[in-house]
Amino acid sequence: MNYYSLNHNSPKTSFKNAVISGIAPDRGLYFPEKITPLSSDFFKNIESYTHHEIAFEVIKQFVGDEIPEEKLKEIISETIFFDFPLVKIDENSASLELFHGPTMAFKDVGAKFMAKCLEFFNQHNEEELTVLVATSGDTGGAVANGFLGTKGVNVVILYPSGKVSDIQEKQLTTLGQNITALEVDGVFDDCQEMVKTAFLDSEITRKLTSANSINIARWLPQMFYFFYAYKELKRLKKDLIFSVPSGNFGNICAGIVAQKLGLPIKHFIAATNINDTVPNYLIDGTYQPKPSKATISNAMDVGNPSNFIRIQELYQNDFETLKSNFSSYSFTDDETRETLKKIYSNSGYIADPHGAVGYLGLKKRGLNSSEFGVFLETAHPVKFLDVVEETLSVKVEIPAQIQQIMDKEKVATKIKSYQELKDYLSK
Ligand SMILES: *Cc1c(COP(=O)(O)O)cnc(C)c1O
Repeated sequence: MNYYSLNHNSPKTSFKNAVISGIAPDRGLYFPEKITPLSSDFFKNIESYTHHEIAFEVIKQFVGDEIPEEKLKEIISETIFFDFPLVKIDENSASLELFHGPTMAFKDVGAKFMAKCLEFFNQHNEEELTVLVATSGDTGGAVANGFLGTKGVNVVILYPSGKVSDIQEKQLTTLGQNITALEVDGVFDDCQEMVKTAFLDSEITRKLTSANSINIARWLPQMFYFFYAYKELKRLKKDLIFSVPSGNFGNICAGIVAQKLGLPIKHFIAATNINDTVPNYLIDGTYQPKPSKATISNAMDVGNPSNFIRIQELYQNDFETLKSNFSSYSFTDDETRETLKKIYSNSGYIADPHGAVGYLGLKKRGLNSSEFGVFLETAHPVKFLDVVEETLSVKVEIPAQIQQIMDKEKVATKIKSYQELKDYLSK
């Protein structure tokens, strides 16, 4: 499979090169040249496929013959080793829990799949690859865990000092081995800026790549769980509406690719916090990025969602087509807290702030009697412990995999400036 750059100023490239370089030479995001729908037999018989078999059917055209089938199956089984349960919340909606992986956020899926692909592609190379990534919280932990022990790949994670939760900090600073954490005296935007500068700096001779959802190997496997949900819900014979709490819009964009593959999804809702660039775009068609604002659903504090350009491409850059299949609404922290409470008092379910925003998206659009709504529960509530415990006046039990990390010692190198990052990368 070939990929082209959405800036249209770079040659087409293979899956392998797109994964290794992350972004095209013209700074555009890579996009698959062709998306071929899966057979109607596949959808007819999906109940008889295992999760691993579904993942294989879904991803194989995007990889082509660049990874042998047996190896690709192995990568899938190393990626998908936990469950994706649907929990009914009310008469016509359910939570799709994506947080049963090692760091308890959906990013575990993409991070592991990407790590295993890079390891395969880099197996005979002498030159080590460095994955450089900026995180506002969840990405760092998932990438650290996903890449731990990956041969030929070093990982350098930049995070803003004092701006990530204790659990998130432990997840990215305690693993050691090929994972290095740099604690930046600044905010997330400073980390992001340093990473961008490093990618453009010709004096850095290390081979750098990115593990954000701009990388196709992190983005595309996020399709899998939309299929898993369909497999469970097919028997309801209802029209499915997915509401996805969105920040960089990688997750929802993967859902739309799944729909292009023939998955019967009637409508998508991108639910955001007050970082409302996309909801505003849907009102009048002007895309106006702005600086991000801090919220209690902080993994979605993004003012210029990097994957939105892919969504536009999926709708042939046609505003009306996009609007008929895709809605987007923004919610305040007060509304999110109210909803956490409402979900808990009505059903006993403890959502996290991101999931609550997703649920709000379903409520805002409304569902008729022939529709069933699914919101993606993108992280375990324990990852946002302070907000959840304070809002609901409950104690959230700390799962074993988190407790184990809380007892480990943090190791991080403090940096203040881009020069310090550069010095570190030149060592
Ligand atoms: C990263 C993240 C999101 C946003 O996902 P995108 O793919 O960037 O839209 C939402 N919720 C949680 C918990 C996350 O970690």
